[in-house]
Amino acid sequence: MAYIKIGTPFNEIMHKEFEILYSPGKEAFYAGIYQCDLCSLEIVHPGKCELPRKNKDDAHSHRWRLLVSIIKPFPVIPIEDINPMQ
Ligand SMILES: [Zn+2]
Repeated sequence: MAYIKIGTPFNEIMHKEFEILYSPGKEAFYAGIYQCDLCSLEIVHPGKCELPRKNKDDAHSHRWRLLVSIIKPFPVIPIEDINPMQ
C-alpha cells in the first residue's frame, strides 16, 4: 500500500491510463507508482520505458496498473522529441 504524508494535496481523477493493465516488459508512458493487480507489489517507474520483467524470484508475471501519477490532460512531448521537419 502506498502512503502519503497527512495533509498532502492529492486529487482524484478519472483517466483511462489508470484502467490499463501492463504485462512485464511493456512500455508505460507515465511516471509514477505502479501496483500489481495480483499481489499488490508496488514499484516506482520513471515513465517512457519498460516496466520490470519477470525474474526468477517472482511467483508470477506481475500485472502492472498505474496507481499514482502526475497526468496532464494531454501527454507532454519533450521538446527534443519534436521534429520540425515532419
Ligand atoms: Zn504480482
